[in-house]
Amino acid sequence: MPLRFFNTYSRELEEFEPCDPASRKIGIYTCGPTVYSRAHIGNFRAYIFEDLLQRHLELRGYHVHRVMNITDVDDKTIRGAREANIPLSEFTAPFKEAFFQDLETLRIKRADEFPAATEQKYIERMIAMIETLISRGLAYQAEDKSVYYRINKFANYGKLAHFDLSQLQSTGRVKNDEYDKEHVGDFALWKAWDEEDGDVGWESAWGRGRPGWHIECSAMSTALLGDQIDIHCGGVDNIFPHHEAEIAQTEGCTGKKFVCYWLHCAHLLVDGQKMSKSLGNFYTIPDVLAKGYSGREIRYALMRVHFRAPLNFTWEGMEETREALKRIDEWLERLREAAAKSADNKSDTQIGQQFEEALDDDLNISAALGFLFESIRETNRALDRNELDAASAKAWLNWWERVNSVLLVEKEKGQELPPEIAALAGAREMARRAKDWRKSDELRDKINALGWKVRDTKDGQKIAPGATS
Ligand SMILES: [Zn+2]
Repeated sequence: MPLRFFNTYSRELEEFEPCDPASRKIGIYTCGPTVYSRAHIGNFRAYIFEDLLQRHLELRGYHVHRVMNITDVDDKTIRGAREANIPLSEFTAPFKEAFFQDLETLRIKRADEFPAATEQKYIERMIAMIETLISRGLAYQAEDKSVYYRINKFANYGKLAHFDLSQLQSTGRVKNDEYDKEHVGDFALWKAWDEEDGDVGWESAWGRGRPGWHIECSAMSTALLGDQIDIHCGGVDNIFPHHEAEIAQTEGCTGKKFVCYWLHCAHLLVDGQKMSKSLGNFYTIPDVLAKGYSGREIRYALMRVHFRAPLNFTWEGMEETREALKRIDEWLERLREAAAKSADNKSDTQIGQQFEEALDDDLNISAALGFLFESIRETNRALDRNELDAASAKAWLNWWERVNSVLLVEKEKGQELPPEIAALAGAREMARRAKDWRKSDELRDKINALGWKVRDTKDGQKIAPGATS
């Protein structure tokens, strides 16, 4: 079966072919985090879906070049820096670092490039793109000195989100500070400096200001991946206005189709509700680690539902995940035992292609996992009856290597902490982040008392069995 994906732009399952059909190289662009706080598990659901996508494409022989931007200038980051009374870059740095730490915890392959919006070369590119848009009549400077995109001039505006502009007119709310836009849906390309911005700002032909969020992605994606991108990903909440705006801006400059496939990941709910701090169901990765779960368990829990279906995160679900991974661990142990019994490698075991084929079909992870667990059941039965020879066990282990190159959920030796130690470690990590050194020391003593030693390194705490030296 050919590889196919549901393209948000056409609302159809489409056979996948790179923009350049002759190429095995694929460019993927992902909207990355806005570094004003720690990313939450809903954000990571999307990043894990993108990881699954990349790894499966690589399994199928494509060479993926992936770019993920870091938004380190916007209203929220500026507000945060102002409230903390520190420079913007100082405010965003720890959140960037935390983000990379969380990626590692979840075994997410790092993008090839992580451009940051505040890098001078990208700011210059954003300004150049805005100049082009103005020269083509697609943008204008309003009385408030900000520059806006003239959405009425871009015929395809609304195509990605599938609505027409008249709808926007009737339901759009006009914010006080946007009274001088021509159309309520016109979005800012360049925001004129105001007092709230403090020392954040760049000079441009339109005066001092800063780029709008949408133009960041148009500039950085085309700078690093060219005018046409094979796959652009994000969460469903990015479709409008963010991705719609990216298309208008980029195509307005290049005159070429910007993205061949738009893939969007559905929401994550917690206990059936939208995650929010006020409901007390808002979790970051360290929050879940603090409950005693490991990175691979969180990875599996966030990956196991098809990316276009909403995922309901629950603690029962985390327990199911633990059970599922335990079954995999035990199965691998049994296979390794069986494989060690003979040096014979000749096997006539035929293992079906259903795992890969399910993923070919719009990354149908549920069907892929269904086949994995059915295979585990069958091989376990054969092992029970002593009917699985060493060569067949090896064939299954080789197959697992392929499966795990996509899932990445195998237990790593010595990495897994017992749940109670993991919970203490997570709590200590939180205490350290809150600079509560007394609590951090108390927790270290508790961990020591249980026979584990703690070492603080620049990459965070490392915990290993053994007495404190
Ligand atoms: Zn973006």
